[in-house]
This record gives sequence, C-alpha cells and structure tokens, in this order.
Amino acid sequence: MQDLIKQETYPYAFDPSACNSCEGRCCTGESGYIYVNKNEIESIAKLLNLQVSDFAKEYLYKKGYKYSIKEMKFNESYECVFYNRETNGCGIYDARPTQCRTFPFWDYYKTRVEELKLECPGIIDD
Ligand code: SF4
Ligand code: SF4
Repeated sequence: MQDLIKQETYPYAFDPSACNSCEGRCCTGESGYIYVNKNEIESIAKLLNLQVSDFAKEYLYKKGYKYSIKEMKFNESYECVFYNRETNGCGIYDARPTQCRTFPFWDYYKTRVEELKLECPGIIDD
C-alpha cells in the first residue's frame, strides 16, 4: 500500500495504489461532466499541439455556460475521450483539469462517503 493521502476536513483517506487495479472508474462509468476552464483548455490544447479552436471543436461541448470534455460510449460505459483503456491512464495527464486532479477530495463527497466508496475503491474511512 502506498502512503495514504488525507486532507483536512475530509472524513476519509485515499489509497493511491488502488488506481493500479481499478480500471479508471473515475474516468468511466456513468455519464458525467468533466469541466474545463479557459486556462485548462489552453493547457490541454498546448499539450496536444492543437489550436484552441480546433481542440474545442474536437473534444469539448458546452454545458450551460461551461465547457466539458466529451465522452464516448464503450459497451454500457461512458468514458472520457482521453481515457486510455490500454494503459489504464489519462492521455492528457500532465494537463488534466482540476476536477480530475482533486478527485476524490471534492466538497460534494464530504457528506456522501458511501456514495464515493461505490465509485472509488481507494477510499478508506479515516
Ligand atoms: S476511481 Fe479511485 S482508485 Fe479508481 S482510478 Fe479513480 S481515483 Fe484511482
Ligand atoms: S481528463 Fe484524464 S483524468 Fe480526467 S476524466 Fe479524462 S481521462 Fe480521466
């Protein structure tokens, strides 16, 4: 087991070694939104060597006043277009959005630990 990650005010800890065998449940599964802000869009476009407008056309869609990364359907699962099944990894890891960097420490889950455990096998009661 790798060192557990803890954050103040969160009632759980996270074991990052769980990611090795989990098959990216936070990048796949039920359809959801993977929000990106302007700076993140620019960083991802740069990483992919694309113009921002080309990147946005190919990989983003608008949800209200925000932008989300597109998903694709694989069997019954909806997966982030950047999830790589072969490597079980993120194709834009160095520029992945804050939403992905901060998972599983989201405010939403502070009071929904059981729901989070269903999504992420790395969650351990603190
Ligand atoms: S769901 Fe949890 S264990 Fe699985 S890849 Fe995501 S963070 Fe890692
Ligand atoms: S950007 Fe990367 S870490 Fe975020 S959902 Fe997509 S594949 Fe997962």
